[in-house]
Amino acid sequence: MTRICVSIIEDRPEAALEAARIAVAKGADMVEFRFDRMKMLPSDVGYFRRIPVPKIATLRTVGQGGSYSGSEPDRLAFFRSAIKGGFEYIDLEHDSPLLGKRESELKGAKIICSYHDLGGTPSVKAMVDILVRLAAKGDVPKAAFAIGSVSSLLDLIDAARLFSYTDREFSLIGMGELGELTRICASKLGIGFTYASLERGKEAAPGQVDVQTMKRLSAERIIIGIIGNPLTHTLSPAMHNAAFATLGLAGRYVALPTTESELETLLQVAVEMDLRGFNVTIPHKQSIIPLLDRLDHSAERIGAVNTVIVEDGQFIGHNTDAHGATMALRSAGVEGKGQRALVIGAGGASRAVVSALSDMGARTLICNRTKERAESLTKGFKNTRSIEIEDARKEDFDVIVNCTPLGMKGFPDELPIGPEVFRSGQVVVDTIYNPPKTRFLAEAERKGAIIINGEAMLVHQGLKAFELFTNKQASYEVMLNALRGVLY
Ligand code: NAP
Repeated sequence: MTRICVSIIEDRPEAALEAARIAVAKGADMVEFRFDRMKMLPSDVGYFRRIPVPKIATLRTVGQGGSYSGSEPDRLAFFRSAIKGGFEYIDLEHDSPLLGKRESELKGAKIICSYHDLGGTPSVKAMVDILVRLAAKGDVPKAAFAIGSVSSLLDLIDAARLFSYTDREFSLIGMGELGELTRICASKLGIGFTYASLERGKEAAPGQVDVQTMKRLSAERIIIGIIGNPLTHTLSPAMHNAAFATLGLAGRYVALPTTESELETLLQVAVEMDLRGFNVTIPHKQSIIPLLDRLDHSAERIGAVNTVIVEDGQFIGHNTDAHGATMALRSAGVEGKGQRALVIGAGGASRAVVSALSDMGARTLICNRTKERAESLTKGFKNTRSIEIEDARKEDFDVIVNCTPLGMKGFPDELPIGPEVFRSGQVVVDTIYNPPKTRFLAEAERKGAIIINGEAMLVHQGLKAFELFTNKQASYEVMLNALRGVLY
Protein backbone atom coordinates (compact mmCIF):
# COMPACT_ATOMS: atom_id res chain seq x y z
CA MET A 1 0.00 0.00 0.00
CA THR A 2 1.45 3.37 -1.00
CA ARG A 3 1.55 5.98 1.75
CA ILE A 4 0.48 9.51 0.93
CA CYS A 5 2.80 12.23 2.15
CA VAL A 6 1.53 15.81 2.18
CA SER A 7 4.13 18.51 1.53
CA ILE A 8 3.59 21.52 3.77
CA ILE A 9 4.83 24.78 2.23
CA GLU A 10 3.68 27.39 4.78
CA ASP A 11 6.00 30.32 5.49
CA ARG A 12 5.50 30.32 9.31
CA PRO A 13 5.97 27.39 11.76
CA GLU A 14 2.55 27.91 13.42
CA ALA A 15 0.80 27.89 10.05
CA ALA A 16 2.77 24.79 9.03
CA LEU A 17 1.71 23.00 12.19
CA GLU A 18 -1.93 23.86 11.61
CA ALA A 19 -1.67 22.78 7.94
CA ALA A 20 -0.14 19.46 9.04
CA ARG A 21 -3.05 18.88 11.46
CA ILE A 22 -5.48 19.48 8.59
CA ALA A 23 -3.46 17.17 6.32
CA VAL A 24 -3.67 14.36 8.88
CA ALA A 25 -7.41 14.96 9.29
CA LYS A 26 -7.73 14.67 5.49
CA GLY A 27 -5.96 11.30 5.56
CA ALA A 28 -2.24 12.04 5.12
CA ASP A 29 -0.11 9.03 6.12
CA MET A 30 3.05 11.16 6.34
CA VAL A 31 3.85 14.87 6.37
CA GLU A 32 6.83 16.64 4.82
CA PHE A 33 7.70 20.03 6.28
CA ARG A 34 9.43 22.16 3.69
CA PHE A 35 11.38 24.25 6.20
CA ASP A 36 13.17 26.01 3.34
CA ARG A 37 9.82 27.65 2.48
CA MET A 38 9.66 29.31 5.95
CA LYS A 39 10.75 32.91 6.37
CA MET A 40 12.59 31.90 9.56
CA LEU A 41 13.47 28.45 10.82
CA PRO A 42 11.70 27.54 14.09
CA SER A 43 14.00 27.72 17.11
CA ASP A 44 12.29 24.70 18.67
CA VAL A 45 10.99 21.89 16.46
CA GLY A 46 9.87 19.87 19.50
CA TYR A 47 6.26 20.94 19.14
CA PHE A 48 6.05 19.20 15.72
CA ARG A 49 5.96 15.95 17.78
CA ARG A 50 2.25 16.56 18.18
CA ILE A 51 1.68 15.52 14.58
CA PRO A 52 0.74 11.84 14.93
CA VAL A 53 2.19 10.54 11.62
CA PRO A 54 5.80 10.10 10.40
CA LYS A 55 7.38 13.46 9.57
CA ILE A 56 10.01 14.43 7.02
CA ALA A 57 12.24 17.48 7.55
CA THR A 58 13.30 19.05 4.25
CA LEU A 59 15.55 22.08 3.86
CA ARG A 60 16.03 22.13 0.10
CA THR A 61 18.87 24.34 -1.14
CA VAL A 62 18.43 26.96 -3.86
CA GLY A 63 20.72 24.91 -6.12
CA GLN A 64 18.27 21.98 -5.89
CA GLY A 65 15.14 24.03 -6.57
CA GLY A 66 14.42 24.95 -2.93
CA SER A 67 14.70 28.22 -1.02
CA TYR A 68 17.40 27.53 1.60
CA SER A 69 20.43 29.76 1.18
CA GLY A 70 22.10 29.31 4.60
CA SER A 71 25.34 27.50 5.37
CA GLU A 72 25.82 23.71 5.47
CA PRO A 73 26.87 23.70 9.16
CA ASP A 74 23.62 25.54 10.01
CA ARG A 75 21.68 23.03 7.92
CA LEU A 76 23.34 20.14 9.80
CA ALA A 77 22.56 21.77 13.14
CA PHE A 78 18.92 22.20 12.15
CA PHE A 79 18.58 18.56 11.05
CA ARG A 80 20.14 17.42 14.35
CA SER A 81 17.54 19.39 16.26
CA ALA A 82 14.80 17.96 14.00
CA ILE A 83 15.91 14.40 14.81
CA LYS A 84 15.94 15.25 18.52
CA GLY A 85 12.50 16.79 18.05
CA GLY A 86 11.05 13.50 16.78
CA PHE A 87 11.39 13.76 13.00
CA GLU A 88 11.54 10.25 11.58
CA TYR A 89 12.92 11.22 8.14
CA ILE A 90 15.46 13.76 6.86
CA ASP A 91 15.44 14.58 3.15
CA LEU A 92 18.87 15.20 1.63
CA GLU A 93 19.82 15.85 -1.99
CA HIS A 94 21.86 13.12 -3.69
CA ASP A 95 24.99 15.32 -3.82
CA SER A 96 24.75 16.80 -0.32
CA PRO A 97 27.96 16.56 1.74
CA LEU A 98 25.67 15.95 4.75
CA LEU A 99 25.05 12.40 3.46
CA GLY A 100 28.48 11.60 4.97
CA LYS A 101 27.00 12.30 8.44
CA ARG A 102 24.34 9.59 8.01
CA GLU A 103 25.99 7.21 10.50
CA SER A 104 27.18 9.95 12.88
CA GLU A 105 25.45 13.28 13.53
CA LEU A 106 22.36 12.36 11.53
CA LYS A 107 21.88 8.93 13.13
CA GLY A 108 18.38 8.42 14.51
CA ALA A 109 16.33 9.29 11.43
CA LYS A 110 15.96 7.60 8.06
CA ILE A 111 17.65 9.50 5.26
CA ILE A 112 15.60 10.07 2.12
CA CYS A 113 18.15 10.55 -0.64
CA SER A 114 16.54 12.76 -3.30
CA TYR A 115 17.19 13.35 -6.95
CA HIS A 116 15.24 15.83 -9.09
CA ASP A 117 15.47 16.29 -12.83
CA LEU A 118 13.23 19.04 -14.15
CA GLY A 119 14.73 18.60 -17.61
CA GLY A 120 13.18 15.23 -18.44
CA THR A 121 13.66 11.49 -18.08
CA PRO A 122 16.75 9.45 -19.00
CA SER A 123 16.48 5.82 -20.19
CA VAL A 124 14.84 3.13 -18.04
CA LYS A 125 18.27 1.71 -17.19
CA ALA A 126 19.60 5.16 -16.22
CA MET A 127 16.59 5.75 -13.93
CA VAL A 128 17.08 2.38 -12.24
CA ASP A 129 20.82 3.12 -11.87
CA ILE A 130 20.01 6.45 -10.25
CA LEU A 131 17.68 4.74 -7.76
CA VAL A 132 20.34 2.12 -6.98
CA ARG A 133 22.91 4.86 -6.31
CA LEU A 134 20.45 6.80 -4.13
CA ALA A 135 19.70 3.59 -2.21
CA ALA A 136 23.41 3.20 -1.47
CA LYS A 137 23.70 6.73 -0.09
CA GLY A 138 20.51 6.87 1.96
CA ASP A 139 17.83 4.68 3.52
CA VAL A 140 15.04 5.63 1.12
CA PRO A 141 15.79 6.52 -2.52
CA LYS A 142 13.51 9.13 -4.04
CA ALA A 143 13.72 10.40 -7.62
CA ALA A 144 11.48 12.79 -9.52
CA PHE A 145 11.62 13.41 -13.26
CA ALA A 146 9.70 15.82 -15.45
CA ILE A 147 7.60 13.81 -17.89
CA GLY A 148 7.50 15.43 -21.32
CA SER A 149 6.08 12.62 -23.45
CA VAL A 150 4.04 9.43 -23.29
CA SER A 151 7.23 7.41 -24.01
CA SER A 152 8.95 8.98 -20.98
CA LEU A 153 5.89 8.11 -18.92
CA LEU A 154 6.11 4.46 -19.98
CA ASP A 155 9.87 4.48 -19.24
CA LEU A 156 9.25 5.74 -15.71
CA ILE A 157 6.55 3.10 -15.19
CA ASP A 158 9.03 0.40 -16.33
CA ALA A 159 11.79 1.78 -14.10
CA ALA A 160 9.49 1.76 -11.05
CA ARG A 161 8.39 -1.82 -11.77
CA LEU A 162 12.03 -2.96 -12.10
CA PHE A 163 13.24 -1.22 -8.94
CA SER A 164 10.27 -2.50 -6.94
CA TYR A 165 11.77 -6.01 -7.21
CA THR A 166 14.51 -4.89 -4.77
CA ASP A 167 11.85 -4.71 -2.04
CA ARG A 168 13.39 -1.43 -0.84
CA GLU A 169 11.06 1.37 0.17
CA PHE A 170 11.36 4.02 -2.56
CA SER A 171 9.59 6.88 -4.26
CA LEU A 172 9.62 7.55 -7.99
CA ILE A 173 7.61 10.46 -9.27
CA GLY A 174 6.70 11.81 -12.69
CA MET A 175 6.35 15.58 -12.57
CA GLY A 176 4.01 17.65 -14.74
CA GLU A 177 0.64 16.93 -16.38
CA LEU A 178 1.67 13.56 -17.84
CA GLY A 179 3.20 12.54 -14.52
CA GLU A 180 -0.12 12.64 -12.69
CA LEU A 181 -0.76 8.96 -13.47
CA THR A 182 2.46 7.99 -11.61
CA ARG A 183 1.12 9.75 -8.52
CA ILE A 184 -2.47 8.49 -8.51
CA CYS A 185 -1.46 4.96 -9.58
CA ALA A 186 1.70 4.80 -7.43
CA SER A 187 0.50 1.64 -5.65
CA LYS A 188 0.40 -0.22 -8.98
CA LEU A 189 4.12 0.54 -9.36
CA GLY A 190 5.19 -0.71 -5.93
CA ILE A 191 6.05 2.83 -4.80
CA GLY A 192 6.31 3.13 -0.99
CA PHE A 193 5.16 6.70 -0.65
CA THR A 194 4.17 9.53 -2.92
CA TYR A 195 3.56 13.21 -2.41
CA ALA A 196 0.33 15.20 -2.39
CA SER A 197 -0.63 18.81 -1.78
CA LEU A 198 -2.77 19.93 1.15
CA GLU A 199 -5.26 21.42 -1.30
CA ARG A 200 -5.39 22.74 -4.87
CA GLY A 201 -3.09 25.75 -5.22
CA LYS A 202 -0.66 24.52 -2.53
CA GLU A 203 1.43 22.21 -4.71
CA ALA A 204 5.10 21.88 -3.75
CA ALA A 205 5.94 20.39 -7.19
CA PRO A 206 4.30 20.49 -10.63
CA GLY A 207 1.56 17.89 -11.03
CA GLN A 208 0.94 17.22 -7.32
CA VAL A 209 -2.65 16.18 -6.63
CA ASP A 210 -4.46 17.20 -3.43
CA VAL A 211 -4.51 14.74 -0.53
CA GLN A 212 -8.28 14.23 -0.48
CA THR A 213 -8.35 13.24 -4.14
CA MET A 214 -5.34 10.96 -3.63
CA LYS A 215 -7.06 9.32 -0.66
CA ARG A 216 -10.29 8.86 -2.60
CA LEU A 217 -8.31 7.12 -5.35
CA SER A 218 -6.21 4.91 -3.11
CA ALA A 219 -8.57 1.91 -3.13
CA GLU A 220 -10.70 0.81 -6.10
CA ARG A 221 -10.61 3.55 -8.68
CA ILE A 222 -11.64 4.39 -12.21
CA ILE A 223 -8.93 6.15 -14.18
CA ILE A 224 -9.79 7.63 -17.54
CA GLY A 225 -8.09 10.18 -19.74
CA ILE A 226 -8.17 12.20 -22.89
CA ILE A 227 -5.61 11.98 -25.67
CA GLY A 228 -5.00 14.67 -28.28
CA ASN A 229 -2.38 17.16 -29.32
CA PRO A 230 -2.37 19.85 -28.08
CA LEU A 231 -4.70 19.48 -25.10
CA THR A 232 -4.27 22.90 -23.55
CA HIS A 233 -7.90 23.95 -24.04
CA THR A 234 -9.69 20.71 -23.26
CA LEU A 235 -12.74 21.05 -21.01
CA SER A 236 -13.25 17.31 -20.57
CA PRO A 237 -11.15 16.85 -17.38
CA ALA A 238 -13.21 19.52 -15.58
CA MET A 239 -16.51 17.99 -16.77
CA HIS A 240 -15.69 14.38 -15.90
CA ASN A 241 -13.92 15.14 -12.61
CA ALA A 242 -16.95 17.19 -11.50
CA ALA A 243 -19.15 14.19 -12.34
CA PHE A 244 -16.91 11.85 -10.32
CA ALA A 245 -16.97 14.21 -7.34
CA THR A 246 -20.76 14.69 -7.36
CA LEU A 247 -21.46 10.97 -7.67
CA GLY A 248 -18.93 10.23 -4.91
CA LEU A 249 -17.10 7.86 -7.27
CA ALA A 250 -13.40 7.12 -6.78
CA GLY A 251 -12.40 8.24 -10.26
CA ARG A 252 -10.01 10.59 -11.99
CA TYR A 253 -9.90 11.97 -15.53
CA VAL A 254 -6.43 13.00 -16.67
CA ALA A 255 -5.09 14.84 -19.70
CA LEU A 256 -2.60 12.77 -21.70
CA PRO A 257 -1.13 14.92 -24.48
CA THR A 258 -0.08 12.38 -27.10
CA THR A 259 1.61 12.81 -30.46
CA GLU A 260 0.72 10.72 -33.52
CA SER A 261 3.88 8.61 -33.22
CA GLU A 262 3.12 7.78 -29.58
CA LEU A 263 -0.37 6.36 -29.99
CA GLU A 264 0.79 2.75 -29.65
CA THR A 265 2.84 3.61 -26.56
CA LEU A 266 -0.22 5.29 -25.09
CA LEU A 267 -2.16 2.05 -25.48
CA GLN A 268 0.58 0.26 -23.52
CA VAL A 269 0.34 2.90 -20.77
CA ALA A 270 -3.43 2.41 -20.70
CA VAL A 271 -3.01 -1.32 -20.08
CA GLU A 272 -0.15 -0.88 -17.56
CA MET A 273 -2.05 1.70 -15.55
CA ASP A 274 -5.41 -0.10 -15.78
CA LEU A 275 -7.14 2.79 -17.50
CA ARG A 276 -10.87 2.14 -17.94
CA GLY A 277 -10.68 4.06 -21.20
CA PHE A 278 -10.01 7.46 -22.72
CA ASN A 279 -11.51 10.10 -24.93
CA VAL A 280 -9.87 10.94 -28.22
CA THR A 281 -9.72 14.40 -29.71
CA ILE A 282 -8.01 16.27 -32.54
CA PRO A 283 -5.94 15.05 -34.39
CA HIS A 284 -6.34 11.35 -33.48
CA LYS A 285 -10.05 10.63 -34.02
CA GLN A 286 -9.33 8.75 -37.24
CA SER A 287 -5.67 7.75 -36.88
CA ILE A 288 -6.42 5.76 -33.69
CA ILE A 289 -8.80 3.42 -35.58
CA PRO A 290 -6.22 0.95 -37.04
CA LEU A 291 -4.83 0.41 -33.53
CA LEU A 292 -8.17 -0.63 -32.01
CA ASP A 293 -9.60 -4.14 -31.75
CA ARG A 294 -13.11 -3.18 -32.84
CA LEU A 295 -15.52 -0.30 -33.35
CA ASP A 296 -19.11 0.14 -32.25
CA HIS A 297 -21.80 0.90 -34.80
CA SER A 298 -21.62 4.67 -34.38
CA ALA A 299 -17.83 4.88 -34.75
CA GLU A 300 -17.98 2.57 -37.76
CA ARG A 301 -20.62 4.70 -39.43
CA ILE A 302 -19.01 8.06 -38.73
CA GLY A 303 -15.50 6.81 -39.42
CA ALA A 304 -14.13 8.48 -36.29
CA VAL A 305 -13.63 7.54 -32.63
CA ASN A 306 -13.94 9.90 -29.68
CA THR A 307 -14.16 7.33 -26.87
CA VAL A 308 -12.11 4.17 -26.32
CA ILE A 309 -13.04 1.57 -23.70
CA VAL A 310 -10.41 -0.89 -22.47
CA GLU A 311 -12.03 -4.28 -21.85
CA ASP A 312 -9.94 -7.35 -20.97
CA GLY A 313 -6.94 -5.81 -22.72
CA GLN A 314 -8.99 -5.05 -25.86
CA PHE A 315 -9.59 -1.55 -27.18
CA ILE A 316 -13.11 -0.77 -28.35
CA GLY A 317 -13.77 2.46 -30.22
CA HIS A 318 -17.02 4.39 -29.80
CA ASN A 319 -18.32 7.68 -31.10
CA THR A 320 -20.51 9.69 -28.72
CA ASP A 321 -20.39 12.91 -30.80
CA ALA A 322 -23.40 11.87 -32.90
CA HIS A 323 -25.34 11.07 -29.71
CA GLY A 324 -24.33 14.53 -28.40
CA ALA A 325 -25.58 16.15 -31.61
CA THR A 326 -28.88 14.21 -31.53
CA MET A 327 -29.56 15.20 -27.92
CA ALA A 328 -28.64 18.85 -28.60
CA LEU A 329 -30.92 19.00 -31.67
CA ARG A 330 -33.78 17.36 -29.76
CA SER A 331 -33.37 19.79 -26.85
CA ALA A 332 -33.94 22.62 -29.35
CA GLY A 333 -37.15 20.99 -30.58
CA VAL A 334 -35.80 19.45 -33.79
CA GLU A 335 -37.81 16.36 -34.75
CA GLY A 336 -36.03 15.53 -37.98
CA LYS A 337 -38.69 13.70 -39.94
CA GLY A 338 -40.05 15.88 -42.74
CA GLN A 339 -37.63 18.71 -41.91
CA ARG A 340 -34.98 20.31 -44.14
CA ALA A 341 -31.58 20.88 -42.60
CA LEU A 342 -28.44 22.68 -43.71
CA VAL A 343 -25.04 21.72 -42.30
CA ILE A 344 -22.18 24.14 -42.98
CA GLY A 345 -18.74 22.52 -42.93
CA ALA A 346 -17.60 18.99 -43.74
CA GLY A 347 -15.09 18.08 -41.02
CA GLY A 348 -15.34 15.93 -37.88
CA ALA A 349 -18.17 17.85 -36.18
CA SER A 350 -20.17 17.82 -39.43
CA ARG A 351 -19.90 14.02 -39.70
CA ALA A 352 -21.46 13.66 -36.24
CA VAL A 353 -24.21 16.22 -36.95
CA VAL A 354 -25.01 14.78 -40.40
CA SER A 355 -25.18 11.27 -38.89
CA ALA A 356 -27.57 12.54 -36.19
CA LEU A 357 -29.81 14.39 -38.67
CA SER A 358 -29.85 11.43 -41.04
CA ASP A 359 -30.89 9.06 -38.20
CA MET A 360 -33.58 11.54 -37.15
CA GLY A 361 -35.05 11.40 -40.67
CA ALA A 362 -34.23 14.94 -41.81
CA ARG A 363 -33.37 15.80 -45.40
CA THR A 364 -29.92 17.31 -45.07
CA LEU A 365 -27.92 19.55 -47.37
CA ILE A 366 -24.22 20.06 -46.75
CA CYS A 367 -22.21 23.05 -47.94
CA ASN A 368 -18.52 23.52 -47.44
CA ARG A 369 -15.66 25.75 -48.54
CA THR A 370 -14.07 22.72 -50.20
CA LYS A 371 -16.90 21.31 -52.27
CA GLU A 372 -15.39 17.83 -52.69
CA ARG A 373 -15.38 17.25 -48.93
CA ALA A 374 -19.10 18.08 -48.72
CA GLU A 375 -19.71 15.71 -51.61
CA SER A 376 -17.79 12.86 -49.98
CA LEU A 377 -19.59 13.42 -46.66
CA THR A 378 -22.94 12.68 -48.29
CA LYS A 379 -21.78 9.10 -48.93
CA GLY A 380 -23.00 6.66 -46.31
CA PHE A 381 -25.78 8.89 -44.94
CA LYS A 382 -29.40 8.65 -46.06
CA ASN A 383 -31.25 11.73 -47.40
CA THR A 384 -28.16 13.92 -47.73
CA ARG A 385 -26.74 15.86 -50.66
CA SER A 386 -24.25 18.66 -51.11
CA ILE A 387 -25.06 22.22 -52.17
CA GLU A 388 -23.02 25.33 -53.04
CA ILE A 389 -22.97 27.97 -50.27
CA GLU A 390 -24.31 30.61 -52.70
CA ASP A 391 -27.27 28.37 -53.62
CA ALA A 392 -27.97 27.43 -49.98
CA ARG A 393 -28.43 31.14 -49.13
CA LYS A 394 -31.59 31.24 -51.24
CA GLU A 395 -33.19 28.05 -49.84
CA ASP A 396 -35.53 27.59 -46.91
CA PHE A 397 -34.40 25.41 -43.99
CA ASP A 398 -36.01 24.31 -40.73
CA VAL A 399 -32.62 23.65 -39.14
CA ILE A 400 -29.19 25.20 -39.79
CA VAL A 401 -26.02 23.98 -38.07
CA ASN A 402 -22.63 25.68 -38.24
CA CYS A 403 -19.82 23.14 -38.08
CA THR A 404 -16.99 25.46 -39.13
CA PRO A 405 -14.74 27.26 -36.64
CA LEU A 406 -15.74 30.67 -38.06
CA GLY A 407 -16.77 32.85 -35.09
CA MET A 408 -14.90 30.76 -32.52
CA LYS A 409 -12.51 32.55 -30.15
CA GLY A 410 -9.23 32.94 -31.99
CA PHE A 411 -10.84 32.53 -35.45
CA PRO A 412 -12.17 35.23 -37.84
CA ASP A 413 -15.44 36.72 -36.58
CA GLU A 414 -17.18 36.04 -39.89
CA LEU A 415 -20.52 34.49 -40.80
CA PRO A 416 -20.12 31.10 -42.50
CA ILE A 417 -23.20 31.94 -44.67
CA GLY A 418 -25.15 35.10 -45.53
CA PRO A 419 -27.76 36.17 -42.91
CA GLU A 420 -30.65 36.07 -45.41
CA VAL A 421 -30.83 32.30 -44.80
CA PHE A 422 -32.22 32.89 -41.28
CA ARG A 423 -35.94 33.19 -40.57
CA SER A 424 -38.35 33.17 -37.67
CA GLY A 425 -39.16 29.77 -36.15
CA GLN A 426 -36.06 28.11 -37.56
CA VAL A 427 -33.70 26.19 -35.23
CA VAL A 428 -30.14 27.49 -35.60
CA VAL A 429 -27.32 25.61 -33.92
CA ASP A 430 -23.67 26.60 -33.62
CA THR A 431 -21.30 23.79 -32.60
CA ILE A 432 -19.06 26.54 -31.16
CA TYR A 433 -19.39 27.19 -27.39
CA ASN A 434 -16.75 29.86 -26.94
CA PRO A 435 -17.99 32.59 -27.17
CA PRO A 436 -21.43 31.44 -25.96
CA LYS A 437 -23.19 33.57 -28.58
CA THR A 438 -21.38 33.84 -31.91
CA ARG A 439 -22.31 36.42 -34.57
CA PHE A 440 -23.95 33.51 -36.43
CA LEU A 441 -26.29 32.90 -33.47
CA ALA A 442 -26.85 36.61 -32.80
CA GLU A 443 -27.93 37.23 -36.43
CA ALA A 444 -30.24 34.20 -36.35
CA GLU A 445 -31.79 35.34 -33.07
CA ARG A 446 -32.38 38.80 -34.53
CA LYS A 447 -34.44 37.13 -37.26
CA GLY A 448 -36.54 35.25 -34.66
CA ALA A 449 -34.83 31.85 -34.86
CA ILE A 450 -34.50 29.49 -31.89
CA ILE A 451 -30.77 29.36 -31.17
CA ILE A 452 -28.47 26.99 -29.28
CA ASN A 453 -24.72 26.92 -28.99
CA GLY A 454 -22.28 23.97 -28.83
CA GLU A 455 -22.48 23.47 -25.05
CA ALA A 456 -25.37 20.98 -25.23
CA MET A 457 -23.62 18.80 -27.84
CA LEU A 458 -20.38 18.83 -25.86
CA VAL A 459 -22.05 17.97 -22.55
CA HIS A 460 -24.21 15.20 -24.05
CA GLN A 461 -21.24 13.52 -25.76
CA GLY A 462 -19.45 13.74 -22.37
CA LEU A 463 -22.41 12.22 -20.50
CA LYS A 464 -22.56 9.29 -22.92
CA ALA A 465 -18.80 8.72 -22.68
CA PHE A 466 -19.00 8.88 -18.86
CA GLU A 467 -21.72 6.23 -18.95
CA LEU A 468 -19.54 4.00 -21.15
CA PHE A 469 -16.60 4.45 -18.78
CA THR A 470 -18.45 3.96 -15.50
CA ASN A 471 -21.91 2.49 -16.18
CA LYS A 472 -23.22 5.45 -14.20
CA GLN A 473 -25.24 8.46 -15.31
CA ALA A 474 -23.81 11.87 -14.52
CA SER A 475 -25.86 15.05 -14.25
CA TYR A 476 -26.14 17.38 -17.25
CA GLU A 477 -26.06 20.45 -14.97
CA VAL A 478 -22.93 19.28 -13.14
CA MET A 479 -20.98 18.86 -16.39
CA LEU A 480 -22.38 22.09 -17.85
CA ASN A 481 -21.43 24.12 -14.77
CA ALA A 482 -17.95 22.58 -14.77
CA LEU A 483 -17.35 23.55 -18.39
CA ARG A 484 -18.71 27.06 -17.83
CA GLY A 485 -16.47 27.36 -14.77
CA VAL A 486 -13.44 26.85 -16.99
CA LEU A 487 -14.68 28.90 -19.96
CA TYR A 488 -16.32 32.02 -18.62
P1 NAP B 1 -12.45 20.18 -38.84
O1 NAP B 1 -12.58 18.71 -38.94
O2 NAP B 1 -11.13 20.81 -39.02
O3 NAP B 1 -13.45 20.83 -39.94
C1 NAP B 1 -13.56 22.20 -40.09
C2 NAP B 1 -14.56 22.52 -41.18
O4 NAP B 1 -14.71 23.92 -41.20
C3 NAP B 1 -14.10 22.10 -42.57
O5 NAP B 1 -15.21 21.72 -43.31
C4 NAP B 1 -13.47 23.37 -43.11
O6 NAP B 1 -13.56 23.51 -44.49
C5 NAP B 1 -14.34 24.43 -42.49
N1 NAP B 1 -13.61 25.69 -42.32
C6 NAP B 1 -12.50 25.88 -41.59
N2 NAP B 1 -12.09 27.16 -41.69
C7 NAP B 1 -12.97 27.77 -42.51
C8 NAP B 1 -13.08 29.10 -43.03
N3 NAP B 1 -12.19 30.03 -42.69
N4 NAP B 1 -14.10 29.38 -43.85
C9 NAP B 1 -14.99 28.43 -44.19
N5 NAP B 1 -14.94 27.15 -43.75
C10 NAP B 1 -13.94 26.83 -42.93
O7 NAP B 1 -13.01 20.72 -37.46
P2 NAP B 1 -14.17 20.09 -36.55
O8 NAP B 1 -13.58 19.16 -35.56
O9 NAP B 1 -15.26 19.62 -37.43
O10 NAP B 1 -14.62 21.40 -35.74
C11 NAP B 1 -15.40 22.40 -36.35
C12 NAP B 1 -16.08 23.24 -35.28
O11 NAP B 1 -16.94 22.42 -34.50
C13 NAP B 1 -15.11 23.89 -34.30
O12 NAP B 1 -15.56 25.18 -34.02
C14 NAP B 1 -15.22 23.04 -33.06
O13 NAP B 1 -14.98 23.76 -31.88
C15 NAP B 1 -16.68 22.61 -33.12
N6 NAP B 1 -16.92 21.34 -32.42
C16 NAP B 1 -17.84 21.34 -31.43
C17 NAP B 1 -18.13 20.17 -30.77
C18 NAP B 1 -19.16 20.18 -29.67
O14 NAP B 1 -19.33 19.14 -29.01
N7 NAP B 1 -19.84 21.28 -29.45
C19 NAP B 1 -17.49 18.97 -31.13
C20 NAP B 1 -16.56 19.00 -32.16
C21 NAP B 1 -16.28 20.21 -32.80
P3 NAP B 1 -12.53 22.83 -45.50
O15 NAP B 1 -13.03 21.42 -45.69
O16 NAP B 1 -12.63 23.65 -46.73
O17 NAP B 1 -11.19 22.89 -44.86
